[in-house]
Amino acid sequence: MIDANLNARMKKWRQALHRIPEFGFETFDTADFVVKKLKDFGITDINTKIGVTGVVATIKCGESNKAIALRADMDALMIQEQNNLSYKSSRPGLMHACGHDGHTSTLLGAAEVLKKRGGFNGIVHLIFQPAEEWGKGAQAMLGDNLLKRFPFEEIWGFHNMPGLAAGYFETRPGPIMSAEDNFEIILKGVGGHSSRPQHGSETLVPACSLVSELQTIVSRKINPNDTAVISITELISDGTRNALPGKSIISGDVRTFKEDVSKKIQYEMEKIANAIAKAHNLKIKFKYSNEFIPLINDLKLSEKSLEIASVVFGQNKTIKAKEPMTGSEDFARFLKYVPGSYAFIGNGFESAPLHNPNYDYNDDILKVGAEYLVAVVRERLSF
Ligand SMILES: [Zn+2]
Ligand SMILES: [Zn+2]
Repeated sequence: MIDANLNARMKKWRQALHRIPEFGFETFDTADFVVKKLKDFGITDINTKIGVTGVVATIKCGESNKAIALRADMDALMIQEQNNLSYKSSRPGLMHACGHDGHTSTLLGAAEVLKKRGGFNGIVHLIFQPAEEWGKGAQAMLGDNLLKRFPFEEIWGFHNMPGLAAGYFETRPGPIMSAEDNFEIILKGVGGHSSRPQHGSETLVPACSLVSELQTIVSRKINPNDTAVISITELISDGTRNALPGKSIISGDVRTFKEDVSKKIQYEMEKIANAIAKAHNLKIKFKYSNEFIPLINDLKLSEKSLEIASVVFGQNKTIKAKEPMTGSEDFARFLKYVPGSYAFIGNGFESAPLHNPNYDYNDDILKVGAEYLVAVVRERLSF
């Protein structure tokens, strides 16, 4: 259903978007690009500035009022591109290193087919979301009354996946991606001369104890049947070579698949941090935030998704994943309110990892991605 002409144009769009990466909610040029293309296809029901820079376009076909949504993300990352491509990022320090240029182009390709050739009975809302990498965009769109203004019964989305063979499809019913929590623990004491530690209450040795002690949460406090990762990624102190630091900051992130596990980790972390601070006469500031919630696929729709994929990608290229992965995805916020299914499409074994300065979206998978989205609409909104 995606002919050579559309396939070639999708590649052009993808490379054009790759040149103009934008961060977070600042996807102004990308949203303009999307709106222009949608208008070119003859789509007239287009709403902008939903969740700051989000775009929602609606296509109706047939008589039914059943509605579903397809979602793509538009934002890029603060990474300096190291690829030597003709369509390399034109913006220093910004890069499409997660393939959202590809996701947006894929949804545009599907939009053109759905608008021009229909083949479904109902309403499709095309959601172009900003600020996915932040984990803030979906919430912002929901906060702008997305569900009331554009009601839909199901939502579908996908992400490309390096390390999965190009053009392979993978999903799983139930949990597929984890929650991400961030934490920061600030220890405050009294710094001083490195030769006279007894006169102050320095923070570096207690901070090191804290780093070790936090490792006991997963190994001793969490049910071994639950998945949890605690990664301490920074320890910053204000000391210099001959001065003991009066302040140390520890930060990192936590991945889980259940809300109660995340809550338990927060509780244990604060308890340990307070105890260590008390033992060493330090003041403490503890910050813990839920950035992403776990992505839980609807059971029935994910089985459907595998059925649809086995036709589009081929039975031998459609994989039902055994285990969830510990990456996180803002799509989870939509699934809190509406059932849906999220999947991965292989970006190839040769692909650099996501968020790597040498990453690039594999243009050869644009076609199957768009065909999958069109097939989802025609299957879920069948006559
Ligand atoms: Zn990303
Ligand atoms: Zn991404």
